[in-house]
Amino acid sequence: MLAGGLLAAMNLQAAPLPGFVLSAQTEHFSFYSRDHQKVDAQKTERYLAQIEQLLGQQVPGRAEYYRYATAQELAAGTGTYAAGLTFARSGQIHSTQEFHAHEIVHLVAGQMGNPGVFFQEGLAVAIGNEAKWQGKGVDQLARGAARSMPVSKFVARFDSLDSDTAYAVAGSFVNRLIKTHGIAKVAQFFRACGPSGTDVPAAFARTFGQSLDEAGAAWAASL
Ligand SMILES: [Zn+2]
Repeated sequence: MLAGGLLAAMNLQAAPLPGFVLSAQTEHFSFYSRDHQKVDAQKTERYLAQIEQLLGQQVPGRAEYYRYATAQELAAGTGTYAAGLTFARSGQIHSTQEFHAHEIVHLVAGQMGNPGVFFQEGLAVAIGNEAKWQGKGVDQLARGAARSMPVSKFVARFDSLDSDTAYAVAGSFVNRLIKTHGIAKVAQFFRACGPSGTDVPAAFARTFGQSLDEAGAAWAASL
């Protein structure tokens, strides 16, 4: 009975959401869409390989990519109103785009460790959005806010801040970490935080040789 129950639960988990049909498949993705919404399967597959190589991290198994028409539809399916959403641990991307670089970065980075939402979003913006937010450079967007409080406060309060400011600040700070220390060091920091991200400031200081707020002060002064 128990074994049957587990098996049924596993099958249930693997089943696509209502209304979605399998529209393409690659080595690392199954793509599901509704109402003939397009997906760029080859571009998504190529970008995943590129990010896996950049971060030195593989995504296990085959991920699922769900293509929605609108953020409202995505909210109905996932409970979150957003252009994209990634459940890295269960290997799912939910997106309103046919190709979504930002979410693919989340999928790979989410396998490494969890330094919290500020660093996850910062990395996805720095790499996936090429250090731009709403089409503008994140350094320019972050300049005013960066000097308003220590970076450790942005890390702690990410979810309660105005989202355009929060994403620009996080993207700008992580982009500077990449430029200053290299992407391998940033990946090492993600791993040092472990899956539950228990002591992020300590992992930061251990990895980069300075405290979060020391690094933040140097970043703010550079903008
Ligand atoms: Zn994101």
